[in-house]
Amino acid sequence: MSDKKPTYKMLEQKIELLEKEIKENKSFLDMLFDVIPNPIFYKNRDGIYKHVNESFSKTIIGIDKNEITNKSLYDLPTLIPRELADIYKAKDTELFENPGVQNYEAKVMCSDNIIRYYNFYKATYLEENEVVGLVGVMLDISEQKKVIEELDIKNKLLNELSNKDTLTKLYNRRYLYEIINNLFPLAKREEEPISILMLDIDKFKKVNDIYGHKIGDDVLVLLSSTLQDKCRKSDIICRWGGEEFLILLPNTNKDGAYKRAEKLRTIIEKISIELDEDKKLSFTVSIGVSQIVFDKKNCLETAIQQADDRLYKAKKSGRNRVCTQ
Ligand code: GH3
Ligand code: MG
Ligand code: MG
Repeated sequence: MSDKKPTYKMLEQKIELLEKEIKENKSFLDMLFDVIPNPIFYKNRDGIYKHVNESFSKTIIGIDKNEITNKSLYDLPTLIPRELADIYKAKDTELFENPGVQNYEAKVMCSDNIIRYYNFYKATYLEENEVVGLVGVMLDISEQKKVIEELDIKNKLLNELSNKDTLTKLYNRRYLYEIINNLFPLAKREEEPISILMLDIDKFKKVNDIYGHKIGDDVLVLLSSTLQDKCRKSDIICRWGGEEFLILLPNTNKDGAYKRAEKLRTIIEKISIELDEDKKLSFTVSIGVSQIVFDKKNCLETAIQQADDRLYKAKKSGRNRVCTQ
């Protein structure tokens, strides 16, 4: 090692070398920054963009990055509406108040006027333990969102399909048992009565035998749409079997259920299917009524059995009638 002190000239050369190295590193970083396809930005504490990459300036804002540098969102009112700038500012403030990382999803109107979903990863940037700004990286998740939305729609459809009968579009037994798990505990707690109507088309076999299965199906569809039309929104109408329907009447005691069953019966005897040559086919139903007694074990099964027994009595005593005993 020499004891020679560095001359001024030597120092100047060293500084020059370091400056060159810094410049090279900066241009390498800039290049790297621009090559990354994700939008990236760095803002200081006042919300001024100090660095943004090509992807951010071109894809998100739609202007050259030099036109963004040293500007805040509020300085670009033609590109970023004030309300949106307020939302972004609120998010930044939240991060500055709780330094660390921030991660959220947001819809962004991009420079090509297409709305895309982005995942924002933001982190506070420290200098000598002081928060001086934040760095943000955006990840386009529009494709994943689309797939998830499509899956949600498919699931909803599948659910509907598995809950509903294809011919009548009414709920099936499976759904009835499912809904009961939610409905019963609430009704029991609130001491709300629930009643059941078991409804069966009279002499339906004859309809099939005389007019054919297709007309039989038309009768089932007409009856189902009439039930949907005339029942309350809160009632649960379900195709229990071939030409047998179970209607759950929330907030209705046996007397109320009887009145509603009578009303349905008289409506149904007046509707009809149009046949050829101005002929009409009308039909009737018999109905058994019961009220659920929550304190009993297997209360639903018991009430269904009761309604079924009363339906049988209605059939035995001449059909086109309602039985409550
Ligand atoms: P009751 O008054 O005693 O109820 O007599 P019913 O003829 O209605 O009773 P039964 O149980 O003897 O006959 C029911 C008929 O319902 C038999 C079956 O072929 C018919 N059926 C069941 N499901 C369907 C369906 O989806 N479409 C058609 N068209 N007929 C059906
Ligand atoms: Mg029948
Ligand atoms: Mg039957």
